[in-house]
Amino acid sequence: MKFTSTRNASLSVSAAQAIVQGISAEGGLFVPESFPQLSLDEIVKFASGSYADCAARVMGLYLTDFSAEELQRMAHDAYASFSSADVVPLVQLNDGEAVLELFRGPTLAFKDVALQMLPRLMSASIQKTGAKHKVLILVATSGDTGKAALEGFRDVPGTAILVFFPLDGVSDMQKLQMLTQRGDNVAVCAVKGNFDDAQTGVKRLFADDGVREMLAQTGYQLSSANSINWGRLVPQIAYYFWAYAKLVQGGGVKAGDPVDFVVPTGNFGDILAGYYAKRMGLPVRRLVCASNDNKVLSDFFATGVYDRRREFYKTESPSMDILISSNLERLLFEMSGRDAAKVAQWMQDLTSQGYYDVGAEVLKALGTDFAAGWCTGDEAKQALNGVFDRFGYVMDTHTAVAQCVTEKLHKDGAPAIVLSTASPFKFPQSVLSAIRPGEEHKDAFEAANALAKVQAAACGKEAKDCLPAQIAELSVLPVRHDAVCEKDNMEQALFDAVKRWN
Ligand SMILES: *Cc1c(COP(=O)(O)O)cnc(C)c1O
Repeated sequence: MKFTSTRNASLSVSAAQAIVQGISAEGGLFVPESFPQLSLDEIVKFASGSYADCAARVMGLYLTDFSAEELQRMAHDAYASFSSADVVPLVQLNDGEAVLELFRGPTLAFKDVALQMLPRLMSASIQKTGAKHKVLILVATSGDTGKAALEGFRDVPGTAILVFFPLDGVSDMQKLQMLTQRGDNVAVCAVKGNFDDAQTGVKRLFADDGVREMLAQTGYQLSSANSINWGRLVPQIAYYFWAYAKLVQGGGVKAGDPVDFVVPTGNFGDILAGYYAKRMGLPVRRLVCASNDNKVLSDFFATGVYDRRREFYKTESPSMDILISSNLERLLFEMSGRDAAKVAQWMQDLTSQGYYDVGAEVLKALGTDFAAGWCTGDEAKQALNGVFDRFGYVMDTHTAVAQCVTEKLHKDGAPAIVLSTASPFKFPQSVLSAIRPGEEHKDAFEAANALAKVQAAACGKEAKDCLPAQIAELSVLPVRHDAVCEKDNMEQALFDAVKRWN
């Protein structure tokens, strides 16, 4: 399998090359040249094997320059640290509703599913391509990516990682998780701005020839762990197959009948992986894109106009507070009939005028695979509380947005699988305010302990043992990172980090 670029369809590179490079030279994103197929028979059988085997098989269809044994070893290593034997357990709430828990990894966010794999894929790709420089991973994070990437790349030979996060745009727990990060090849810098400022700054660093040259002299080449990297996206395709197989196994759907997936969406990586799964033969009726108040995507699916010229809201689902969803570019490439020139023009329009319009034909095509909806923070909390009331199940604030959109849109037909993207313990104050209205907890740890008490019945242990260890240790770990930079001066933070590492 070869990979081409969304902005230059004559390009053709190997998977390893795409992973090392992260982004194509002209600014496009790497996409597979075709979609490999899986039979229903094989899909259903995934449920009786291990998740790692399922992941290795699905990834292997794209990563044809990796051997099956290599991928199996990597997948088993990557997912051994997850707290569930199923890695990504499917919880059936009732006949028509299920939740796919993607947050059982080391940083309690769904991003671990990809970011425990990516460093292994990256290391192997560096060897396969004979890259002579170390790879320096630059990350802009709206909260969860940063920690998951730091944890994934920590002390991985041949790599270093620098994470930028918006100073006031992440939760207390998310910030502490990053500032206490261990490892000799890591750096973290708070940016005075929002997530889009941080992401734009990172893109600028990637595009700056001077920066590249200076890094090459010190022995580094840049790459990305954001979901624009193919190696980040490909591990995510697997859990759609797994969820479906498990639902069939549990009797929630008949083999071959379609399901809907409802995805709390930010950068469009998670839901795009679902679209790829559908293209590979998974029986999916619709992929439902769920947005919070920053509903640029749900507006786009309604109108065909992607318009970032709008107010940016800080919400209680901060990992979805995004106005520029990078991975949508990959979907547009498919929906335009792989018209790289058109995609490049839309992206140019977005940069120069703040919006683009894909027109009626593409809009219609989008509607056959996708639906979209959005919720206010209050509506999401009501949904969260409703699920707790009905099933005793506690979800986090991002998952609650998807739950809320499910309740708004999903009135008929196919069973709905809600993708759960974070542990409720990462956002304890917000979660508690939903299920215990009136109780107020200013301190995140106090709230986490109170939440552990609420969960005790469901987790079947004493309250203190229901608090995830990754949260408990944050209150005692020393802060190791204190850099803050202006959004126009992220270059300096990069040079400072390199100086420290060398
Ligand atoms: C990153 C993230 C999302 C959004 O996922 P995308 O792939 O960027 O669409 C949703 N919820 C949580 C908790 C996340 O960390």
